[in-house]
Amino acid sequence: MKGIYPGSFDPMHNGHLDLIKRASKLFDHLTVAVYTEPEKDVLFTAEERVELIEIALDGKISNVDVVIFSGLAVEFAKKLKAEFILRGLRAGFDFELEFEMALMWKKLQKDIDVVCLMSSLEYQFIYASRIKEVARLGGDITGLVPNNVVDALNLKFK
Ligand code: ADP
Repeated sequence: MKGIYPGSFDPMHNGHLDLIKRASKLFDHLTVAVYTEPEKDVLFTAEERVELIEIALDGKISNVDVVIFSGLAVEFAKKLKAEFILRGLRAGFDFELEFEMALMWKKLQKDIDVVCLMSSLEYQFIYASRIKEVARLGGDITGLVPNNVVDALNLKFK
């Protein structure tokens, strides 16, 4: 079974990393798909976001790769012959958004299903936008994002 994990990952944080590690045991192969055209403004280019994820993974999970994609996630999943799209759910409003999105994806591509994993307790409050805000204001984000992402954020905001 093949899955893709689409997202903006601007930047990757430990909530994403936890989800990737757990999902790598669920699928034979998992592709982390970095979206090039998010509606929101991004801090890191798509290439930088891919590199940050690859360095954080450090080649330790053999059935996971990281690529850039644009367009519809379901079309990209179909292109890769993936049967599933992975998403993460934090407590609160993630469910409404993900449910709505899953129904739309199902309408667009009925052969592809969405698999959601619940965020682990310690990562429930981690949002990429919040991480960027805290880093911009000089707060300590150690432990919330991989070490290479701490360095990359410090460099952006120095
Ligand atoms: P963010 O919401 O942090 O900006 P993305 O938009 O890149 O991240 O989200 C990609 C996917 O990862 C979404 O399904 C989102 O719900 C999930 N996700 C984001 N943060 C977490 C977290 N802390 N724990 C579990 N899943 C998460």
